Amino acid sequence: MYQETLVILKPDALERNLIGTLIKYYEDAGLLILDMRYYRGVDEGLLRKHYPDTMALSVGLKAQRAVPTIRDPEAHGVKVLRNLRKYFSRGPVLAIKIGGEEAISEVRRVTGYTDPATAEKGTIRGDLGIDSIEKSTEEGRAVENLVHASGTIEEAEAELKLWLP
Ligand code: GDP
Repeated sequence: MYQETLVILKPDALERNLIGTLIKYYEDAGLLILDMRYYRGVDEGLLRKHYPDTMALSVGLKAQRAVPTIRDPEAHGVKVLRNLRKYFSRGPVLAIKIGGEEAISEVRRVTGYTDPATAEKGTIRGDLGIDSIEKSTEEGRAVENLVHASGTIEEAEAELKLWLP
């Protein structure tokens, strides 16, 4: 089924001059770049809508998979979300609308798993990610993994409205 989804190139991607390289991963997979918006900065209100506190448990459980000593995943998830908003607001980001056959899962596949340390080779995070959940947890910050990609049809719809109205 034809779908449209949202990718955001995060501050580390722009700091590392990777805009062209990352867009090429999606184009090489046969996906279409349909629209984009450069955000010089992102305000807290937008970030709170994009990463609401209701995500805390799922984010905390993912962290626990990489760092089993985490005791309270929900409380940990709240901290991760705070760090994540800080990471996202430290510099410019590029929001991109991408379309294609099964675009949501295709984009996630090309992007790779959240933790660059265990992301598959051939994916953006596996090939170009230089951080890990373990290291970022030790240092009390969000893991830097270059790209955000919507996870579901509902998320893609809501996030496209939010970032590319
Ligand atoms: P994604 O869909 O693969 O981006 O992952 P999530 O939606 O679960 O998390 C959103 C973002 O939060 C990720 O892309 C990471 O930047 C960050 N993040 C997620 N889980 C963790 C974690 O366990 N520890 C740290 N430090 N950062 C995390």
